Amino acid sequence: MSGAGYDLHIHSSYSDGSLTPAELVEHAVKIGLDGIALTDHDTVDGIPEAIRAAQEKNLRFIPGVEITTDYGDVEAHILGYGIDYRHPELVAKFETLMAARIDRAKEMVNKLNRHGIPVTWEMVEQHSNGRFIGRPHIFKALIAMDLVQPAYRRQYFEHYLGQNGLAYVPHQEIETGEAIQLILKAGGIAVLAHPGRQGTQLFIEELMDYGLKGLEVYYPAHDAATVRHLLSLARRYQLVVTGGSDFHGDMGHGQMGESVVPDISWAEGLLAGSN
Ligand code: AMP
Ligand code: MN
Ligand code: MN
Ligand code: MN
Repeated sequence: MSGAGYDLHIHSSYSDGSLTPAELVEHAVKIGLDGIALTDHDTVDGIPEAIRAAQEKNLRFIPGVEITTDYGDVEAHILGYGIDYRHPELVAKFETLMAARIDRAKEMVNKLNRHGIPVTWEMVEQHSNGRFIGRPHIFKALIAMDLVQPAYRRQYFEHYLGQNGLAYVPHQEIETGEAIQLILKAGGIAVLAHPGRQGTQLFIEELMDYGLKGLEVYYPAHDAATVRHLLSLARRYQLVVTGGSDFHGDMGHGQMGESVVPDISWAEGLLAGSN
């Protein structure tokens, strides 16, 4: 029997969300979700805490990750579900990506300084709960400095930190195929995140050659026509159908449970505690 469904795209304070994994689990239980996956950007640091909390609260939980990758000059986000979060190669790669993120964030702070904005690294660090610093943490520092008009947050984000913004620095991403294979090696299922958002659906067949197994169909920015189209692609290519809200707490827009997937029979062997 399914209730409110499964939200399989959620960020915690171990990346750029504002809630801890335990708080996320608590919230999921409160709103009656059947289960969740934690999918922090490029890190699995929050997973042990999430597993403990989910066991305590009896919530079904899938360990996950969302890897930022480059497919040519398109940014493609790859979700990994049911990964062994202790897998040595995966852990080593994420360490590299996290270190690169810190260098990149420092460079963005320098760029802002060169544009006369006196934000400091210390001010940015204050908005991160862990080792992860991304654009949302820099943006929070700018908000705290009163450099952002609350009614125009999105526009200000784009102005300062968007891809064509004042201080943007590209990620040192990994290639999409490498990310998919890393997820496979770590025992997981690789899924293309929000294919309706970045035009990445054109590459689905090519990504399947690397081992892509699913599409994130249900997503807040996908309208009904996009969902229908993605469902038909999933059927045509025999890919699993996933979905989630991309919840970031107060670091993002949506609410947990805003997009869910009703059925996760494809993930039965991937739930924490199932092996
Ligand atoms: P990064 O991974 O450091 O490039 O930061 C990207 C993150 O910034 C995304 O995962 C979102 O959480 C957030 N983000 C991207 N675009 C915007 C925007 N226009 N307004 C607010 N947050 C954004
Ligand atoms: Mn994010
Ligand atoms: Mn994403
Ligand atoms: Mn996300």
